[in-house]
Amino acid sequence: MSATNAPLRIAVIGGGWAGLTAAVELAAAGCRVTLFEAARQLGGRARSVSLHGQTLDNGQHILVGAYRETLRLMRSVGADPEHLLRRLPLELAFPGARPKPFRLRLPRLPAPLHLAAGLLMARGAPLAGKLAAARFMRRLQADGYRLAADCSVGELLDRHGQHGALRRRLWEPLCLAALNTAPENASAQIFVNVLRDSLGGGRADTDLLLPAADLDRLFVAPAAAFIRRHGGDIRLSARIERIGDDCSVAGMSFDRVVLACAPQHAVPLLAGHPATAPLAGRIAGYAYEPIATVYLAYPAEVALPFPMLGLNAGHDGELGQWAFDRGALCGTPGLIACVLSAHGDWEACDNDALAERLHRELQAALQRTLPAPRWWRTLRERRATFSCRPDLPRAAASSGRAGLWIAGDHACADYPATLEGAVRSGVAAARGCLHPEAGA
Ligand SMILES: Cc1cc2nc3c(=O)[nH]c(=O)nc-3n(C[C@H](O)[C@H](O)[C@H](O)COP(=O)(O)OP(=O)(O)OC[C@H]3O[C@@H](n4cnc5c(N)ncnc54)[C@H](O)[C@@H]3O)c2cc1C
Repeated sequence: MSATNAPLRIAVIGGGWAGLTAAVELAAAGCRVTLFEAARQLGGRARSVSLHGQTLDNGQHILVGAYRETLRLMRSVGADPEHLLRRLPLELAFPGARPKPFRLRLPRLPAPLHLAAGLLMARGAPLAGKLAAARFMRRLQADGYRLAADCSVGELLDRHGQHGALRRRLWEPLCLAALNTAPENASAQIFVNVLRDSLGGGRADTDLLLPAADLDRLFVAPAAAFIRRHGGDIRLSARIERIGDDCSVAGMSFDRVVLACAPQHAVPLLAGHPATAPLAGRIAGYAYEPIATVYLAYPAEVALPFPMLGLNAGHDGELGQWAFDRGALCGTPGLIACVLSAHGDWEACDNDALAERLHRELQAALQRTLPAPRWWRTLRERRATFSCRPDLPRAAASSGRAGLWIAGDHACADYPATLEGAVRSGVAAARGCLHPEAGA
């Protein structure tokens, strides 16, 4: 509430998971929220799309048990994570890996026993490598998960003697999945933060939470309904070009503004004001990484032996990284989503060639012939995430300009570009709006 006890009027620019979170938190606190979204739909980089008469996602998403704020926000808008997400113990299964199949599964034991037992029982890695991996985690923990200086994940793994199967099948895939940046370019400190909150956390933090519904049902639609129920106004196809003096947006005046756009879209809105121009300059230097999701729609009887199956990227020119069984997860039998993260050779393949290659790679991984897919579709997000490089300058919730707060995955300095980073940033921006005296 404002000093006069009238509800605070707040503009939220951007209706991705960060903006929706900020709007939910502010509406719940009694503010009058207007959310402006440039696109015709909400969800941003984690949105549903309609393909072949089905509601699918712009990209396969993975959540983990450590996504505490995401789970809290889902519950607060009435989206039950127990039903909408499938909780599975972390399992990295590469049955077609060469020279040897690899499988690591964390058993349901208390932490840190689950990690120790999972590493020791991993198949396809020598004992010396398993002990080195356990020593690596212990060393990070002893150092409080703080590195003296940031460097690349590749350098960190070299320094700690992480080579061979566990490097290729555990650390490097985790880095790609979490940071969407190749290990030789990715920030070791942010990777270590991810390890702190996942493998280094409680047993439940390491669980995979695989969506059992499309992203719209997971959070976007319930969040929008929550905002409207609390008197908020959501305007679609409303691209904001400028934040005026006294927090005016689209000709309306507000008490505060939350800017919740991806970094490349935040830059022009920050560059025009002397208080935020330096931040705009820093963000303008970001590089970006793509993600492709290739949907292969097989006949209904085709299923994978694991809901999330490791492919053989990097071996003999193979491209695929992961395949998800959407039949087992989301009740769409026969539908497999293959994921390709970060810059790589796959970008040079056209959509049909990519689908064909992934069909072949899937057969090689499963060591059996599959029927031809009934249809396929490749979705490419060219700027899926910022490239999570060492020492990347990051925004905080506080923009330095009176009344303006920043949200978006890029504004959660501890995390890579993830749903959890986006949600946390939305929570922090809402807190800033409500308690500006506390700073952020
Ligand atoms: C294919 C893919 C796969 C991914 N996989 C995972 C995963 O497995 N796990 C995970 O945790 N994360 C994953 N991510 C990352 C995650 O989706 C993002 O980090 C998160 O969605 C970012 O949310 P955001 O709200 O910060 O930004 P955005 O989603 O980009 O939202 C910003 C919104 O602002 C709108 N906008 C921009 N400019 C304006 C303007 N001028 N006026 C009004 N509106 C504007 C945009 O249209 C957009 O809707 C993935 C991303 C992609 C693309």
